Amino acid sequence: MEHKRSAEIFEEAVKYIPGGVNSPVRAFKSVGINPIFIDHAHGSHIWDVDGNEYIDFICSWGPLILGHSNEQITAGIADMVAKGTSYGVPTAIEVEMAKLIVDAYKGIDKVRMVNSGTEATMSALRVARGYTGRNKILKFEGCYHGHSDALLVKSGSGTITYGVPTSPGVPADVVKHTLVTPYNNIEALEAIFNEQGDDIAAVIVEPIGGNMGLVPAERDFLEALRKITQEHGTVLIFDEVITGFRIAYGSSREYFDIEPDMVCFGKIIGGGLPVGAYAGKAEIMDMVSPVGPVYQAGTLSGNPLAMYIGKKQLEYLRDHQEVYKELEEKANYLAQGIRTHLQDLGLNYHVAQAGSLVCLFFTDKEVRNYEDAMTCDTEKFNHYFQALLEQGVLVGPAQYEAMFLSTAHTKEDLDKALVAIGNALRIAHNK
Ligand code: PMP
Repeated sequence: MEHKRSAEIFEEAVKYIPGGVNSPVRAFKSVGINPIFIDHAHGSHIWDVDGNEYIDFICSWGPLILGHSNEQITAGIADMVAKGTSYGVPTAIEVEMAKLIVDAYKGIDKVRMVNSGTEATMSALRVARGYTGRNKILKFEGCYHGHSDALLVKSGSGTITYGVPTSPGVPADVVKHTLVTPYNNIEALEAIFNEQGDDIAAVIVEPIGGNMGLVPAERDFLEALRKITQEHGTVLIFDEVITGFRIAYGSSREYFDIEPDMVCFGKIIGGGLPVGAYAGKAEIMDMVSPVGPVYQAGTLSGNPLAMYIGKKQLEYLRDHQEVYKELEEKANYLAQGIRTHLQDLGLNYHVAQAGSLVCLFFTDKEVRNYEDAMTCDTEKFNHYFQALLEQGVLVGPAQYEAMFLSTAHTKEDLDKALVAIGNALRIAHNK
């Protein structure tokens, strides 16, 4: 497979953009190769600038649950553009979008649109702090909630429970209020709440961890979290930037039947355009300006083009909820196929699946948290990734990312991918 044109563009890109990319994981640096540059995509397939075709399991990291350039979703966008791209004055479509989200997610009353998942989580925390009058927040090791200062905290090991900025540029003063504890560990959660619970404004959690590979929260852990936050008057925030409208139409709220106080969305609600949202109970959301004193704003928030695409995608999902079962069956088929290859090769790697998300961990350990995830053999993953790419299968260029399935992935795609995965595993295994 030739990547000549991609290499040329990359050479130019690094001169003008840090690392040549606008988001680090796109650099393919962790897998030791240069990135491919994309020309176009359709359905479950994506083509690079050298004309190579791939079955795409990145799917823009989640927004494209109905596949790339889906005509049902994009139809009419040119007419919208002709009417203007942004007004800075409200439009009816923002109200329709808000109603759709509130109707889909049981227990929330009001929603505010923003432009990314990062903005959504950052804003939700501010509101929760304003609402409770407390400063501390709690997050879980290995969960990613965007790149705002307070959330760029990851403990280096399971024993560190207090915030350490992992990025220079985040002042220690800013993250001194961010507590970190291991995922899926009720004892550690209770210990931290026993000590500081009445000072914790909010707990933010990915109900299905999608940023340390794929690590679903265990039900009893989420139940304990709901109970303990309620007891301490702490706002429970579900970060559903990945899982929102993916794991079920009613998101993790429906999937686990557990109700948070606030929720953050991104990805699917924008259908590939830059959108995020945060939502919650009326008494919490009414803290937000101009009703309440907590300030949060956005020039392009509720952008009419983004609302148009996002709303059409959500309406499609609302009217075709059978797609969730279909997606789960496809993901299950893929996960089982991978497990069969592993068995044939005498490998005992862990394969995780939840809804339409699948992840192959290069470790024998069952992965329940960040520490388990760190046992992966990332060298082997890199060989695996490169071998997949050479065979026309694109997965996230890092061990700690899930494969995203869309309704556009056909059985033929999955069978082809499984053949490639078998070969790639063999290659990686023999290195
Ligand atoms: N929360 C979660 C769970 C995410 O996975 C991400 C991004 N992958 C974010 C927040 C941040 O979203 P964005 O990249 O749109 O800022």
